[in-house]
Amino acid sequence: MGFLAGKRALIVGLATERSIAHGIAQAMRREGADLAFTYLERLKDRVVELAGELGSTITMPMNVETDAEITRAFADLKRHWDSLDIIVHSVAFAPREALAGGFVDSTSRDSFRVAHEISSYSLTALAREGRSMMTGRRGALLTLSYLGAVRSIPAYNVMGLAKASLEANVRFLAADLGPSGIRVNGISAGPIKTLSAAGIAGFRKMLAHVAHTAPLRRNVTQEDVGNAAAFLCSDLAAGITGEILYVDAGYSTVGMSFGEESAGA
Ligand code: NAD
Repeated sequence: MGFLAGKRALIVGLATERSIAHGIAQAMRREGADLAFTYLERLKDRVVELAGELGSTITMPMNVETDAEITRAFADLKRHWDSLDIIVHSVAFAPREALAGGFVDSTSRDSFRVAHEISSYSLTALAREGRSMMTGRRGALLTLSYLGAVRSIPAYNVMGLAKASLEANVRFLAADLGPSGIRVNGISAGPIKTLSAAGIAGFRKMLAHVAHTAPLRRNVTQEDVGNAAAFLCSDLAAGITGEILYVDAGYSTVGMSFGEESAGA
């Protein structure tokens, strides 16, 4: 029996087979969880198909930019499930022009608002709507962050600020929901080639740099993140909340690296 047997998980942020949400869904399914998915309308057919491959027939539209859509999605979910154990928030967006060039010139008032609303505020909104279904069930919320929350990264720009907000969001939600038995954590993943990542200028250079510099001398995979996510949302992690777990092949721990050159050379 898997360590998520009997758990019900809502996955927000599945777009393609490459999505981090797909790696998380696969790991959660393998460990015995029942899954439900939301989708952006334009991605409906693909998400419904992927959900089917993961043994789920529960899918509903949800654009996190609109409170009414979030409320409606949870109302839809309640028609299938009377309770919920896990919410995975694997959502981020910033206008493409904000993710290229220098930070000062690329960051407009509007791109700042959009990035923060979709990538950070949405976690608070999901917690608010999901709270009543999760209370008293050892619930867990999980979100996805990146090193740009705490370090400057070329071209990541306003998304770094949004991820800093998201990580603070994790801590404030953990404090607020802990007394209801709901844990809230984040995974700070290393770079992985996905649809969203393709929007970041120079992303291939990021992958090459990590593979050269990280202690494990490789990039992480959807499977690496999925397995960590399944653990964090399971009762095995019952004592962990308000935490950001780095799943990045150790990259964030390195102060200096000479890559393939030997340390003694
Ligand atoms: P992805 O493109 O597969 O997933 C992003 C998801 O966000 C998509 O499913 C998209 O539909 C959803 N989304 C965007 N705007 C939305 C909106 N308004 N309403 C609802 N959903 C919306 O890319 P991914 O890389 O799997 O991204 C998932 C998460 O992982 C993001 O938070 C991202 O910042 C984070 N992350 C990614 C990497 C990476 O290198 N790929 C690294 C660290 C963290």
